[in-house]
Amino acid sequence: MITPEEAWSIVLRHVRPLRCIDKPLREAAGLCLAEDVRADRDQPPADRSAMDGYAVRVADLRRAPCSLRLVGEVAAGSAARPRVAPGTCVRILTGANVPLGADAVVVVEQTRERRGGVAFLSRAETGANILRRREEARKGEVLLRKGIILGPAQVGVCAAVGKARIKVFPRPRVAVVCTGAELRETGAKVRPHEIRNSNGPALCAALALSGRIVADHRRAPDDPERLTALLRRLMAKCDVLILTGGVSVGRYDFVEESVKKAGGKIRFHGVAMKPGKPILYATLPGRRHLFGLPGNPLSAMTGFYEFALPALLRMSGLPPDRCRPTLRLPLRSPLASKGGRVHFKLARLFWDEDGPRLEPVDSRSSADLASGGRADGVIAVPAHVTALDAGDVVTFRPWRPLP
Ligand code: AMP
Ligand code: MG
Repeated sequence: MITPEEAWSIVLRHVRPLRCIDKPLREAAGLCLAEDVRADRDQPPADRSAMDGYAVRVADLRRAPCSLRLVGEVAAGSAARPRVAPGTCVRILTGANVPLGADAVVVVEQTRERRGGVAFLSRAETGANILRRREEARKGEVLLRKGIILGPAQVGVCAAVGKARIKVFPRPRVAVVCTGAELRETGAKVRPHEIRNSNGPALCAALALSGRIVADHRRAPDDPERLTALLRRLMAKCDVLILTGGVSVGRYDFVEESVKKAGGKIRFHGVAMKPGKPILYATLPGRRHLFGLPGNPLSAMTGFYEFALPALLRMSGLPPDRCRPTLRLPLRSPLASKGGRVHFKLARLFWDEDGPRLEPVDSRSSADLASGGRADGVIAVPAHVTALDAGDVVTFRPWRPLP
C-alpha cells in the first residue's frame, strides 16, 4: 500500500492551478496572485521627508546652535519646489518632497521658530530624515511574486502601484456529498438505527475557514445508480467533489463503482495511514477531481486535511510546497504509537510560558468524534516511530486556523 507522501505526489501529478481570471483589486483578498506585480514608478518617486521639521543645508548647521532664514513651506501633496539657498531653510511636513538644495531635514522638536527665522540647536547629518528616491524599489522591480496569497499588506502593495484590477487564480468550486442510508440532518429526529450527518457540516466548516472555497453540500443514498447520476450532475458544475462514506469493502460501499461509471479514473484507493486507510482519489473528465473519504468522522477529517484541502490549495494557485503546511512543535507529554504506518494522532495546542506545545488527545477509534472536538489538529507520527517523549519536536497539521 502506498504511503501518505506517495499518495500526495500522485495528487500533485494531476492537480493544476485553475485558469487565472482578472478581478477588481477589492475582490481579490485571499486569492492567489497569477502575475508578478511590479513597481509602476520609483518608490518613493522623489526624495521625501520622513518627519515634520525644516529642510536645511547640512553645511549651514556646522556652527550650530545657529539661525537660518525661513523662506517657504512644503506640505504633503504640494507640488511647490522652493529652493533652499545658503543661509535659508524651508518648513517641511511628513510626506512632502524635499526642496532643491536641501540635504537634510531637522525635526521640529530640535528647533525654535521665531519671526522670519528658525533656531537650530544642533548639527545635522547628510540625508537625515529623508526617504531617498528609489529607496524602497525601482520602477519595474517585482514587488510581489506570482503564487502568493493576497493578504492585507499585499493588497496594499497592489493599490500603491496602481493595480485596480489584478490577475488571480479563482477559488475551486467544491461539492461535499455524504453517502449513507443511516444519515439524518442536524435538526432532524434520529431513531436508534440512524445517526446525524456530522461529516457534511464539519467539512463545510473546514472549507469555509480555509477562506477560499465555495461549497455545495448534500446527502446521497447507498445506491450506485443514483450516486452515479448525482456525480454526473455535480461534475458539470464543480471542480472538486468530496464524498464521505462508502469507500470500504462493505456490501453497501458503492463509491468506487459509481465513480468509474461516471467516467472517473481511480488514481489510488487505500493509503498506509491511520485513521483513513480506505481513502480514494480519482480524476474525472474535464480536469475534475474526486476524493472519497471514509465515513468515520476522524478518518474523513484526516483525509480532508492530508489530501483534499492541499489539492484545493494547489488548484487555487499555491506552489506545491506551500499546499500542505505543517508546524514543527514540541510535545508537552509523551506519546505512544503502534507504528507500521503513519499514525495521525489528535493533539491540542497549548500556549504556555515556554511557547506553543502539543498535548496528545486520546481517541478510542476513528469514529470518536467527541475526542476530535478537543483537538486543534493532528501529529503525524512516522511509521517507524513507536514512542515519543515530552520535549520531542513533532510535525503538526492544524485542523483550524490558529488563533
Ligand atoms: P462507511 O465509510 O460508509 O462505511 O461509514 C463508516 C462509519 O462512519 C459508519 O459507522 C457510518 O455510520 C459513519 N458515517 C458515515 N458517514 C457519516 C457522516 N456523514 N457523518 C457521521 N458519521 C458518518
Ligand atoms: Mg456507509
